[in-house]
This record gives sequence, structure tokens and C-alpha cells, in this order.
Amino acid sequence: MSNFIAFAIILVSFLAMECVAWASHKYIMHGFGWAWHRDHHEPHDNLLEKNDLYGIFGAVMSISMFAWGSPMIMGQHAFWPATWIGMGILLYGIVYTLVHDGLVHQRYFKWVPKSGYAKKLVQAHKLHHATIGKEGGVSFGFIFARDPQKLKAALRQQRESGIAILRGANIDERGN
Ligand SMILES: [Zn+2]
Ligand SMILES: [Zn+2]
Repeated sequence: MSNFIAFAIILVSFLAMECVAWASHKYIMHGFGWAWHRDHHEPHDNLLEKNDLYGIFGAVMSISMFAWGSPMIMGQHAFWPATWIGMGILLYGIVYTLVHDGLVHQRYFKWVPKSGYAKKLVQAHKLHHATIGKEGGVSFGFIFARDPQKLKAALRQQRESGIAILRGANIDERGN
């Protein structure tokens, strides 16, 4: 097994996790799982949020893959690619928490990017927080950010068609 194959599996798993995160954020957390995600969208002074429980699912996915890949645990049923899938999931978890909890929400470090892709990431997620309640919204992923102007246009359209309620009257003040 070459290093290239291991790297490719890690990369594909990492990217697949952005799809998993996007879909679960949009359809589960803003759907039937809103009760656990709601406090992330409302102002509070608590250190932890119910929303943090969702991170446990990611950890369980990653740990399960490492276990599946381990001959020590699985014996001859060990599936070697699972180790690298687990690594991709773990890396995604690290990047997710650095970007979302760190960069955007400043839970454990404070650095405000002035330009570049890091700034775009912050803007995109701040615009995710521009809606009130679980309906509508933009930017359900965490590592691919769209142009903030396009996101603002999408939010305005959602407001006009009654899909979403926006926080504050002026969307242009948000995500800058
Ligand atoms: Zn959300
Ligand atoms: Zn957030």
C-alpha cells in the first residue's frame, strides 16, 4: 500500500465530511435536530452549548473507523483503508473546530482575518447566523465559502419570499 493511496483516502474522506456536515447541518440540525442546534443560534453567556453534542457524532465516526482498521481490535476482519478514512474524519474535525469555534466564534482564540480566504470563511458563517430560527439560511458547510455578496443576495431573496426571518433590517451590515 503506497503513501499515495493513503493520502488519497484521507483527502477523499476529508472532502466527503464537508458534504456530510453540510447535509446534516441543513437537514438534521435545522430540521428535526433543531432542539440541539438552537442554542448555537441564540445569544447566551454559557461556556458550552447543546450544539456541542453534535461533535460527539463526528468523534464516534472517526473512532469507529480507527477500530475497524485495527488488526489488534478486529483481527483478520480489520479493513486497512478504514484507518485512513478515520484519519480524514479526524482532520476534518480539527479543521472544523479551528474554523468554526476558533476563527468565527472566537471560543478559544481571537484573530480577525482582514483579507483572503480566512476572511471569506468568517463572512460566510456570520451570514449563516443572519437568520432567526431554523428556516431558510445560507452557508451550511464550513470549509468552502461562497462570495459574501451572493450569500447576501440569497438571504434577501429568502426574506422577500418569506422563507427566512433575518436578524436586523440591514443585511449589508452583517458579515463584514
Ligand atoms: Zn445552523
Ligand atoms: Zn456558528
